[in-house]
Amino acid sequence: MPIRVLLVIFSLLWATTSQSQENSMVMLKKVVIDPGHGGRDPGALSADRKVKEKDITLSVSLKLGDLIKRSYPDIEVIFTRKTDVFIELDKRTEIANKNKADLFISIHVNAATARAATGSETFVMGADKSSSNFEVTMLENSVIMMEGEDYATRYEGFDPNNPESYIIFTLLQNAHLEQSLEMASLVQKHFNNGPIKVSRGIKQGPLLVLWKTSMPSVLIELGFISNPLDFKILNNHANHDKFASLIFNAFKEYKQIYDKDYSNGESTALKKVIPQSESKSTQDTSLKKVRKESETHYRIQIMAVNKILRSNSPDLKGRDANYIKMGNLYKYTIGEYPTIDMAKKELGSIRKDFPQAFIILVKDGTIVPLN
Ligand SMILES: [Zn+2]
Repeated sequence: MPIRVLLVIFSLLWATTSQSQENSMVMLKKVVIDPGHGGRDPGALSADRKVKEKDITLSVSLKLGDLIKRSYPDIEVIFTRKTDVFIELDKRTEIANKNKADLFISIHVNAATARAATGSETFVMGADKSSSNFEVTMLENSVIMMEGEDYATRYEGFDPNNPESYIIFTLLQNAHLEQSLEMASLVQKHFNNGPIKVSRGIKQGPLLVLWKTSMPSVLIELGFISNPLDFKILNNHANHDKFASLIFNAFKEYKQIYDKDYSNGESTALKKVIPQSESKSTQDTSLKKVRKESETHYRIQIMAVNKILRSNSPDLKGRDANYIKMGNLYKYTIGEYPTIDMAKKELGSIRKDFPQAFIILVKDGTIVPLN
């Protein structure tokens, strides 16, 4: 065979394999299912306190995982928990991120002080803290209070019960918002045929468990354990199969759109949104980078955002701030204090501008845990 023909065949083969490899790399292959609550955190409780959110979420999650595995043996299904154990919110996110999942589905059951509140709703991450969403958001975030003393450090000084604390989310850029919304709308669409027919729609809220996920992610509230009718449905195990299969139908449809979109090699319905930090030049001279420090010192962290701020950004409120990049986040800090007492002295005045500010320890340019 002439060498030229061989070359053509070879390059054709190469093109086909690399093309299919690329496709298989980007198609939906891994899903993380997150059954809300667990262990010492029961989640929402029924009126008689006998039925717990954590048991319903686990039951529906395991059934959903089974359905996916049975229909798509190639898809890897990862659970944040498969038993009745306590898992921190940031640990759940970490499981999804570490595994480079393509989709994160968190399953919950709602509760409200108003017994009339009924229906399902699906949340995507967002800064919106409008009243009705906020009740759910605070409820689902409050679990971090059970996670031990260091929660302030781990969640950027976030206090779930302090509305001012939610300011950290207002600068958020959600790279996967479109895809998350797509999945959320499919879930709500299929829930219309479900045991709880009232749909409260798609909501955006500052939910900690979704905050740092690096893939499309949704948090589904199946219904209200506090509502007598919803409760009856949620407490019936046969309905757990129904909920699982409705979420599975949404997943199936989402996967079709996702796979088609990527195998076409074009971004249509599910186009990737480039975060602002990536599209902007990081060479900008007006930006200050934290110089590498060899010694240990204290700083006051005022916020964590996923883009670089200009030094004259109004978000910095005229303060002279530096940032430390940790993962996808830019943690903005004020001051450099050799002792924690000196940092504590400044904290009060800084909290006037940044109520959620807290002290961090920096060693060799990175944040290390405060003892
Ligand atoms: Zn919950």
